[in-house]
Amino acid sequence: MVYVDGGAMISPETIAAVKERVDIVALIGETVALKRAGRSFKGLCPFHKEKTPSFNVSPERGYFHCFGCGEKGGAIDYLIKLEGLTFPEAVRALCERAGIPIVETGGGDADRARAERQKRDKDDLYRVMQLAAEWYREQLSAHTLRSAALGELVKRGLPADSPDEKVQAALAGFFVGYAPYGWDQLARWLEKQGISLDAAEKLGLVRRRQGGRGTGYDLFRHRLMFAVVDRMGRVVAFSGRALDEPPAEALRAAGVEPIAQRDDDRAPPKYVNSPESPIYVKGETVFGLYQARHAIRDAGLAVLVEGNFDVLSLHARGLGNVVAPLGTAFTPAQAKLVRRYASTAVVLFDGDAAGRKATEAVRGPAREAALGIRVANLPTGRDPDDYSREHGIEAVKKVVDAARGMVEYLMDRAFEGIKNGTAEEIGACLKTVRRYLSDETDSDVRAMAKTYADRLAGKVLVSGRPAADMRALERVISGALASGAGGPTEGAARQAKQVPVTPASLSRAQEKAIEEAVLGAILDFPELLEDPEATEASDGAEGDLALALDAVRRMWDAKRSLAGDEVLDLIPRPIHAFASGRLAAPVFGDMKDARAELLSNLKKLQNLSLRADRAAAMEQLNRAGRLGDTAAEDELLLQLARSRDKKLGRD
Ligand SMILES: [Zn+2]
Repeated sequence: MVYVDGGAMISPETIAAVKERVDIVALIGETVALKRAGRSFKGLCPFHKEKTPSFNVSPERGYFHCFGCGEKGGAIDYLIKLEGLTFPEAVRALCERAGIPIVETGGGDADRARAERQKRDKDDLYRVMQLAAEWYREQLSAHTLRSAALGELVKRGLPADSPDEKVQAALAGFFVGYAPYGWDQLARWLEKQGISLDAAEKLGLVRRRQGGRGTGYDLFRHRLMFAVVDRMGRVVAFSGRALDEPPAEALRAAGVEPIAQRDDDRAPPKYVNSPESPIYVKGETVFGLYQARHAIRDAGLAVLVEGNFDVLSLHARGLGNVVAPLGTAFTPAQAKLVRRYASTAVVLFDGDAAGRKATEAVRGPAREAALGIRVANLPTGRDPDDYSREHGIEAVKKVVDAARGMVEYLMDRAFEGIKNGTAEEIGACLKTVRRYLSDETDSDVRAMAKTYADRLAGKVLVSGRPAADMRALERVISGALASGAGGPTEGAARQAKQVPVTPASLSRAQEKAIEEAVLGAILDFPELLEDPEATEASDGAEGDLALALDAVRRMWDAKRSLAGDEVLDLIPRPIHAFASGRLAAPVFGDMKDARAELLSNLKKLQNLSLRADRAAAMEQLNRAGRLGDTAAEDELLLQLARSRDKKLGRD
């Protein structure tokens, strides 16, 4: 297998070294307080909310497993899941930690040299962005013309000198700063730091003057700045908000020439954003995701707002799981990024026509990324920042909690279109509802949508709509529900899952528990596979248990340590969850205990299996007896005896 990363590939040896050498307890211990519990460590799961620890880490197997939410894996998986890194990123991060040299394979020397050069160039660009971010921060606390920026923050209820820790953390976390008044202050400062105009230009911080003479001019002038940070925490772009023009006397006092007004007398754009660059792709970056990632995971939910200021202000007021799509329409790539941390997002867009339109546009990308969407409704004319300032953060949380399903929201909007009850309005509404219902693949949502549409139709009917129109609506809804992929079959599958409790299913459950106990003892002490008595008894194992034991035996024979993720690859799906949990949290500390338990369970399994055979045979005998077929009776009796002998090892 190869792992492509910027043209180069990380060698399998490097990946193996990571699995072998990274101390998973130390790694996870940085984010989770772990306590020793027998052979493993326990703590509160970082992937779901819990009060009693069900998250286990096994240092022997380099493996973690949560019995609460089922998250599991090795050190690499941990970083992928917790930090949202890609596989190569996680491997690189762990290599750096453990001092493992990264060996790259594939491609010729020239390819590798080029990849190396590209990486160095990128590292330089990240460094320039970090320097610029820190410099903007400094200007906010020192520049003589910074008062408009400070004033804007005060107006937003987030003063730069606020004693509130949350406010300070948000201002620092988003690198809130001031891009000074004037043409080329950043350009000149960067030059003094020995940074080439080329790099600054590539990043869009500086533009070259016409004719290319002298230094360039700054893209961000007299703006309140936010940094856009990628999911590794690196500054990759900026967003700058327009500020009021400083008074003429302040400019004179500062010895700064006023920036010439534009001829067309248009106000400068409210927000200016960095252009895309080698380190920044707009539609693939989510504003605030890095800062919000832990809060999103804790809440199991991301809140999507429109503006950067909304993100900052909600974070500063204590709602930390908020992100924004960075001034573009929400893209599938952005939805996928959010989906790495939570399965659901609540859309909290502005309460205006543009906000509602943008809300509908979230649906497609979210579905592509399997990100569940609910919609929260702000009062008309309000954005999340206004609303949190006017009513407090608890009010915002209430609005988020009250979010409706996307389809429900869309139907409300469709029915809102019926104002006068004209045939055109009703027709348009029907068309919209039909579209929503027919392209909804989730049968639960379809059923819910039907109920909802019925209720709305009822309301419209009561308010005096012609009954024929409503019958047409009903027909459309039922038609849409009957057609479309997977509707009834999904329902049937769900019903089939609820297996009724019968004596047979009880004994199957019992059997499963015993099988798991057998596998568990072997996973705790694979050495037992060399015990003759245990080996002989386990030869009678059947089905998934037999396959799983075989997998462990193969690894054991190859003298490989039981690394959690490798064993699991070989074990049949139905017992994954059990095996994964057991790998991270062994039960037996002493091999003698494990052996005794193993042998006793193997014995029980044998008896159960005999009993099942007997029951099946008896039933056939009864049937044969009723038919008076004595030859069949004899044959069955013979088979029964043979199968018993085989199970008891008397061939
Ligand atoms: Zn969990």
